[in-house]
Amino acid sequence: MAALAPDGGRPRLRLVPDPPVAPARPLLGAVEVLPGQVRAALVDHSGKLLRRTVAGFDPAAREAAGVDAAVRQAALECFDGRELTGVGVAAAGLVDPERGTFIEVNDVPALRGYPVAEVLRRALGVPVYVEHRARLQVLGDRWFGVGRGLRSFASVSTGEVLGVGVFFGGELLAPHGGRSGAHMTVLAGGEPCTCGARGCWKTVATTRWLRRRAQTEGLGTGMTLEALVRRGDGGRPMVEEYADNLALGLVNIQQLFAPGLFVLHGEAVEGGEGFRARVEERLRRDSGWSTAAPPRVVLGEAGRPDDVALLGGAGLVLTHR
Ligand SMILES: [Zn+2]
Repeated sequence: MAALAPDGGRPRLRLVPDPPVAPARPLLGAVEVLPGQVRAALVDHSGKLLRRTVAGFDPAAREAAGVDAAVRQAALECFDGRELTGVGVAAAGLVDPERGTFIEVNDVPALRGYPVAEVLRRALGVPVYVEHRARLQVLGDRWFGVGRGLRSFASVSTGEVLGVGVFFGGELLAPHGGRSGAHMTVLAGGEPCTCGARGCWKTVATTRWLRRRAQTEGLGTGMTLEALVRRGDGGRPMVEEYADNLALGLVNIQQLFAPGLFVLHGEAVEGGEGFRARVEERLRRDSGWSTAAPPRVVLGEAGRPDDVALLGGAGLVLTHR
C-alpha cells in the first residue's frame, strides 16, 4: 500500500502489507489508600505505570465523605476514558477481601468498615478487588518483579511498616483473619508493642526502633538507615543490629514455609549490599538445619519503593482474571 515518505514527499510503494493492528488490551487499575492520601495508577501488562494521580483527605475526620471524594477523584482522574480489566486496592491495615471493605486502618477513623470496592465499582463499573498491602507486594513481585515465574518466595515490607507476604506453591497465602507477621513474638518479655503484647517483631525491626536506638546512642533524632550506612564504621554496629533483628522474623517464616527467597522492599533497600548480605548471613546461619538450598535475600527495585503496592494492586487483578 502507498504511504507518505518520512520527509513528507511523494508516496512510496510498500510491498509488505502493514501488520494487522492488535486490539488494545484493557489496562489494569491500582489504588492505594494511605492515611490522608489516595493514590491511583494505570498499569500496563508489563508492569509499567502509565499514569498516576493522588488525592488527599483529612485522616482525623470521623465521617467518610472526605475519603469518598478522594477515592473518586483519584480514580476518575486516573482511569477516565480507559478500558480497564479491573482495579486492585491496597490498604495498610486490616481488610476484608470477600466484602471488599477495610476493617480498620490505624489512626484513620473514617476508614473503619469503609466499603472501598463498592465505591469504586459504582464509579468505574469494573470488578474491584481489595487486599492487604504486604500481601499485594508479593503479587507485584510475582507478576512484574524478581518473583516472576517462581512457585515460592516471600516479599518483605521494611521501614515504617513491617510485614511479610508469602507466595507458596503458586499461591498467595492469604488466610482469612491472618496478619502479615509484624506482631510475631521474637523476644519473650521484650518491649511493649502497640498491639498490647510484648516483644513483637515490630518493636525491634522498624524505622521507629532505629530512630529510638540512634537517639539512645547519642546519634541525634531522625536517624535513617541510609545515614547510618554513610557513617561507615561509626554506624556499623547499629546497622548490623537492625539487620539481625529483621532476620529474626525471616528465620521464623523460613522455618514454617521455606520460601527460599526473600525480597526486601522499603527502607532495607537504602541499606544497600552490606545490609542485604548481613540479613542473608544471619538467615542462613539460623537455617543450617534445612535440607533445602540456603535461603537467599535480594533487594527490591531501588528508586521506586512507593510503586510496589500499586504494582501489587495490578497483580491482584491479573490473579483474579
Ligand atoms: Zn504487637
